[in-house]
Amino acid sequence: MSTVQILWQTMIGACLMLAAIQWLARSSNKAAPWVTLLALSIAGIAAGELAAMYAPTPEYFGRTVRWIHLPIYTAFVAIVGFVDWSFGTGRRWLGTLALSVRMVCLAMNFWFYPNLNHEKILGLREIHFLGSSVKVADAVFSQRTRLAEASTLLLLVFAFDASLRLWSKGDPDSKRRALLMGGGVVIFIATALLQGVLIHTGTVPMPYLISLPFCLLLAAMGYESSRDLKRSAAMAATLRENAESMQLAANTARIAFWQWNIADNSISMDPRGRQLYGVPAQAIVTLDDFLATLHPDDREPTRRELDAAVKGDGSFHANYRVVVPAEARHWIEARGKVEYDPHHKPLRMRTVSIDVTERQMMHERFRLSVDSSPNGVVLANAEGSILLTNQRADEMFGFAPGELLGQSADLLVPERHRRASGNSRPGFQKAPRALGMSGGRERFARRKDGSEFPVEISITPVESPEGILILSVIVDISARREAEAEARRHRDELAHVTRVTTLSELSGSLAHELNQPLAIILANAQAAQRMLAQSPPDLVEVKEILSDIVDEDRRAGEVIQRLRALLKRGETQMLPVSFNDIVTQVLHLTHTDLLGRGVTVSTDLADDLPLVSGDRVQLQQILLNLVLNAAEATMEKPGGSRHVVISTSEKDGIVRLAVRDSGIGLPEDIERLFEPFYTTKAQGLGMGLAICRSIVAAHGGRLRAEPHAEGGAVFHLDIPATVQEQA
Ligand code: ADP
Repeated sequence: MSTVQILWQTMIGACLMLAAIQWLARSSNKAAPWVTLLALSIAGIAAGELAAMYAPTPEYFGRTVRWIHLPIYTAFVAIVGFVDWSFGTGRRWLGTLALSVRMVCLAMNFWFYPNLNHEKILGLREIHFLGSSVKVADAVFSQRTRLAEASTLLLLVFAFDASLRLWSKGDPDSKRRALLMGGGVVIFIATALLQGVLIHTGTVPMPYLISLPFCLLLAAMGYESSRDLKRSAAMAATLRENAESMQLAANTARIAFWQWNIADNSISMDPRGRQLYGVPAQAIVTLDDFLATLHPDDREPTRRELDAAVKGDGSFHANYRVVVPAEARHWIEARGKVEYDPHHKPLRMRTVSIDVTERQMMHERFRLSVDSSPNGVVLANAEGSILLTNQRADEMFGFAPGELLGQSADLLVPERHRRASGNSRPGFQKAPRALGMSGGRERFARRKDGSEFPVEISITPVESPEGILILSVIVDISARREAEAEARRHRDELAHVTRVTTLSELSGSLAHELNQPLAIILANAQAAQRMLAQSPPDLVEVKEILSDIVDEDRRAGEVIQRLRALLKRGETQMLPVSFNDIVTQVLHLTHTDLLGRGVTVSTDLADDLPLVSGDRVQLQQILLNLVLNAAEATMEKPGGSRHVVISTSEKDGIVRLAVRDSGIGLPEDIERLFEPFYTTKAQGLGMGLAICRSIVAAHGGRLRAEPHAEGGAVFHLDIPATVQEQA
């Protein structure tokens, strides 16, 4: 076998092999079909060339050349296709033009005898080529060959232009491809063109050797294509890795994927989905099968959501329970997106479903604990719209279960407070903090029927994905308020009884207090009678006597007035009062009694003493009690050393009334004095100090006793001053 035969047959074999390899790789590499076509075309051309080199007759030679044009045409198609697909920068019209001209050449080739290039083949001549003797034709060449050369030129321009444009993209990969591929295509076409011209002009007698430069180009294209092949193999590996890590993440997050293929109404699922929905592997699932895995109550709502997604904007969101046999119930939250074709026909819906059982259980536990709370619970969002209420809250406010949801929380607040609560909300949003019961204030809430009731409210901000929510716990304190009022009534009652008892102690001296003016009045009246009996009567004297009578009568009247005030049974009335006035009034009532017992009372009253808010009668009662106790304590002391000092003072907004005595002093456990029924007196009730302390507490003050340094005891009564100063 000659060198030429070996060479050409090797070339044909290599081309066929490459074609086969590329064809097999066509699924992962889009350039492969073009490389396959080019390889087949070159094998065809090479076979034709070989046949021509060993042609027995001129006719055979002519026919062979004619058939060579067919693979040349397909090679053109392959080059244009490859450049267009792989570069993406070719001007299509140029490629199409080159192909069209070549098509015309092909048609002419088969129309004219013997072929496109030859007008007439005169004979065959043997020449030496690569150490073998091969045939070339002595022929008259046709002008039609120019058209073929033009088509090759067009192909050259097309490839050159596309390479240039690829190069100008600037990135290294584009440049490399432009140089290798573009350069290869251009050199090949240029060589082929030059060779054709040389043969057809008869300048150099040689056989057709188009397949050789074609082979170079094929090598370049094959190299490029296998690079793509390698790249796509690497990409496939990365994709696989990504898919695996996604599956891993999905497994960890307990996410399952399912897809509704709308055309055939089937559902496909990933393995996790099959596990979650209890669907056996390989089983074909329809939408109905899928819905049957859900809790019966959730099937229709889910179907409705699916329909709405397809007909609406394509978004699907649903919460449902999956009841997998022999397994616990799962709560699922699913979100999906419908994909449409260009005519908006729904194709499929891809869905991600997340197992939210734990979250749901927490919700239910929260719900349970809220429902079992003895207090009303209301959860509202930043806008004040109610998101949740418990049964107690519904009952408390007189609403049906669920009726409050979505309503404004303002509905539960009396109208006069609404502005305040509404205004405070944005501020609360900015600086959320928990507020204790009512934030220290008494509040009122409003029932559905408009009636109001006293409440204590604790407010807690709760962070949530929807922003800060406000959780209010409401306690209806009407019952407590009533109990407090009842206790107050009892205390007033008891205070009254104690007062009456205390006053009864004074009755002797009070009688004296009244007797004195009455005796004076009587003496004066008798004196006046005598004066009037004289003639002439001393009217000036009578006038003076009458004026004395009026004065004494007023004194007696005042005593009675004060007694009546103290004996009156009445409700507590908090008004601004002066401690100094209280001292004066109490001393008026007691001074005769004290005097009779040999007790001297002195006062040390502060000027400009601020007023306190209090019930005059009750404060008088306290002082009366303290003064009488003090006098009592001095009884064991010899006459002349029985002193009681009453003083008033003010410090840091607290007004103080102190009663000091020179008596026997206090027992060791001072606090016992304030216990009810503690007494050391034979006639004592033991209620005085206990009542005094509860009255003082109701005034927001304090009553304490302590031993005095110089012997005896001192009692301090402290009450906060009212804001307004004494006039
Ligand atoms: P009562 O006067 O009916 O005994 P109180 O509650 O007013 O009831 O007084 C309780 C007891 O406290 C008195 O019995 C007395 O022992 C003691 N006590 C009250 N004031 C003084 C005082 N100034 N000095 C010493 N002991 C006092």
